[in-house]
Amino acid sequence: MQHIYLDHASTTPLISPVIEEMNVVMKEYYGNASSIHHHGRQAKMLIENARKTIAQALGASIGEIFFCSSATEAHNMILTNAISDLDVKRIISSPLEHHCIIHTLDHLVKETDVEVVYLNVDQHGTIDLDQLQNLLAEDQKTLVSLMYVNNEIGNILDMNRVSEICSTNGALFHCDTVQGVGKLPLNVNDTPLAFLAGSAHKFNGPKGVGFLYMNGDNIISPMMYGGAQERNIRAGTENIIGITGMAVALEKALEQKTERADHIKSLNQHMRTRLEELDDIKINGTDQIDNILSVSFPPTDRADMLMFNLDISRISASSGSACSSGIEHDSHVLQHIGHPAERKTIRFSFSHFNTLEEIDFVIEKLKKFTPVKIES
Ligand code: PLP
Repeated sequence: MQHIYLDHASTTPLISPVIEEMNVVMKEYYGNASSIHHHGRQAKMLIENARKTIAQALGASIGEIFFCSSATEAHNMILTNAISDLDVKRIISSPLEHHCIIHTLDHLVKETDVEVVYLNVDQHGTIDLDQLQNLLAEDQKTLVSLMYVNNEIGNILDMNRVSEICSTNGALFHCDTVQGVGKLPLNVNDTPLAFLAGSAHKFNGPKGVGFLYMNGDNIISPMMYGGAQERNIRAGTENIIGITGMAVALEKALEQKTERADHIKSLNQHMRTRLEELDDIKINGTDQIDNILSVSFPPTDRADMLMFNLDISRISASSGSACSSGIEHDSHVLQHIGHPAERKTIRFSFSHFNTLEEIDFVIEKLKKFTPVKIES
């Protein structure tokens, strides 16, 4: 058995059509898209075609899509400049957001007058949307920042409900859609919102490139100043290789959405079934996306070594822990849902590349490192 990769929520491998497209662009489209000569115009055309692909995929207008280096960059810019440019006085979010949101909000609380409110979450990671509704009844210019799919436990947000609550109460809705793009329904006409962001490496595109959608009614100023690229919203020579690769990746993800989803569902169900052979296993989260399975293992003297043991068994998964000052502890997400610190969580995340045999291999390995159920 080769090394098994079960960390697709962290980053996905590039697919061949993406590599082929990027090779052609690297070899043949070396002009700078800002130049007005033939080579520049050709490069510009590729960028605009990619923008059209992304815009169509989201039901957005071409003018509402901006390319950038990452979702982290997009989220920093949106949260920061919504305060200065859209007169946002309060940001409502959840404690389960990705660090690129939470740490930006920590910074904004220190550096600006914005008020940040975190919604309550229960032990399954469900966000209290009734509380959101109540908070928005107060008359204060608010931006609501909630993620579509939680990258650790896989919970899917009811985006339609949040969109509706926000529009009824005049709040701006900003959604971190990184884990949902190319996998779940996402159309800004069906689910109106002010901002969203995506990252190519989550849907088999290259790393270091992303996009942001900014609704035409809520234009904010750039975070970086320089050239006039991306219609003055994102200065700096465009990453044309990354942008074209990202567009092909999204096109393929949407073309193959049903087959990929069906396969991933079968992997998820198989893993859940086989996990029943192990003792005292719990699954973190609720209403999860199928490609993320966050598994909580019982406390044993070997539990701390689980990740290490999986790694030496040639299985790459992700630990649910973070390390600070050399001490390992549960991630902020697990802590907020009250995951017992003495248990150990491993996140297994699948893609269409994984197989049922790989899942069986993982279970057989896990049986060596964690207690197995004793049949009565
Ligand atoms: N939001 C979520 C939910 C993520 O999973 C990630 C990456 O792991 C990000 C944001 C950050 O994306 P990027 O790596 O493009 O900055």
